[in-house]
Amino acid sequence: MALEDEFNREVTGIRVSLTDRCNFDCVYCHNEGLGDTRGPMDAQDEEMTAGEVVRILEVVSEFDVEKVKFTGGEPMLRNDLEEIIQRTPDSMEVSMTTNGTFLPGRAQDLVDAGLDRVNVSQDALDREHFTHLTKSGAYDRVLEGVEAALDAGLDPVKLNMVVFEPTAGYIPEMVDHVAKNNGLQLQLIEYMPEISGNPQWAIDIERVHDWLAERAERIERREMHGRARYYVAPEAQRRREQDSDVDTGMVEIVDPVENADFCANCHRVRVTHDGKFKGCLNRHDDLRPMGEMTREEIREAFRATVESRVPYYGEYFIRDGDGWTLNEKYMETHEPQPAND
Ligand code: SAM
Repeated sequence: MALEDEFNREVTGIRVSLTDRCNFDCVYCHNEGLGDTRGPMDAQDEEMTAGEVVRILEVVSEFDVEKVKFTGGEPMLRNDLEEIIQRTPDSMEVSMTTNGTFLPGRAQDLVDAGLDRVNVSQDALDREHFTHLTKSGAYDRVLEGVEAALDAGLDPVKLNMVVFEPTAGYIPEMVDHVAKNNGLQLQLIEYMPEISGNPQWAIDIERVHDWLAERAERIERREMHGRARYYVAPEAQRRREQDSDVDTGMVEIVDPVENADFCANCHRVRVTHDGKFKGCLNRHDDLRPMGEMTREEIREAFRATVESRVPYYGEYFIRDGDGWTLNEKYMETHEPQPAND
C-alpha cells in the first residue's frame, strides 16, 4: 500500500537527482530546489553511488512507489546511468529529464537498460537565444539528442520549455514546432522564482492558458491536477483545413506557482544527489538524511518524510489577502531560500 501523508496525498512517485553537476548554466535554474548547480568537471564525492540509488528505489518500491524520474544537475553526466536504470525495480516506470546533449550515441543504451520516457529541456528554437538562456553552445547537439531519443523508440519525447519573460514571445513557434513534428509533445513550465530569484521574470501564466485555449483544436482535462491537454494543429494546416481533422501535437502547462490545487495533487517525494529525502521542491528545511543507508534506515527516513509532507501553497504558505504568508506553525523550522541571482 502506498504511504499517505496527513493531507491524504499518496506518494506514488520519486524524483531522484543523480548529480548537481551540469554542463549548462541555465539562467533560470532552480537545481531541484538546491540553488546553483556546479560545473561538469568538479569532483563527485558527495554523489550517491549506483548501489545507494538502487537501494533507495528498492525500498520505496516496497511502499508501492511506482514511478521514478532521474534528474540533476545533468543526469547523463553519470556514466553509470545505464546501470542504475537497469537495476531499478521492474515494477517502476523509469523516466528522465535531460538537457539532451548526451543522448546521441547513448539513447538506445538507455532504452535497452529500461528507460521508458524522456523529457528534453529545450527553451528555444533559435541558436542565439538558446545560447543566451543556457550559456552553452550545444543547440545542434540538443536537436540531435531529441532525434536520437525518437530513433531509440522514446515516443513521445516531451520538450520542456520554461515560460518566463525571455521565452514568452517564442511560445507560438515552439507550439507550432511540436504540432508539425510527430513524436514531440510540449510541457510549458511556469517559471518558479521561489528558489531561483528574479521574480520580475515571471509572467501571468493564465494568459498562456487563454492563448492556448484559442489556438487548440481540442482540449482534454486530466484527472491529476485537472491539468488541461491542448491538442494543436500546425499553423499552416490549420488555416487551410479549419473544419476537417488535422494532425495534432499535444501541449501541457505545468503551473505550480501559488497554486494550491497543484500542491494538493502532489504525489512525489524527492531525493537529493547526496542522498537525502526532500518532501517539497520549494522548501529548504525538510531535508532528511538516510543515515548509513541501511534498508531499515531508508525505510524509516522515507516514512518520516511522507509523514511530515505538507502542501507548500495552501498549508505551509496560506492565503493572506491577495498574497501568501508563511503559516505560523512552520515559523520555527523555516529557513530562507537560497537565491541564484
Ligand atoms: N539537466 C536536466 C534538464 O535540463 O532537464 C535536469 C535538471 S533541470 C533542473 C529539470 C527541469 O527543471 C528542467 O526541465 C528545467 O526546465 C526545470 N527548471 C529548472 N529551473 C526552473 C525554474 N526556475 N522554473 C521552472 N522550471 C525550472
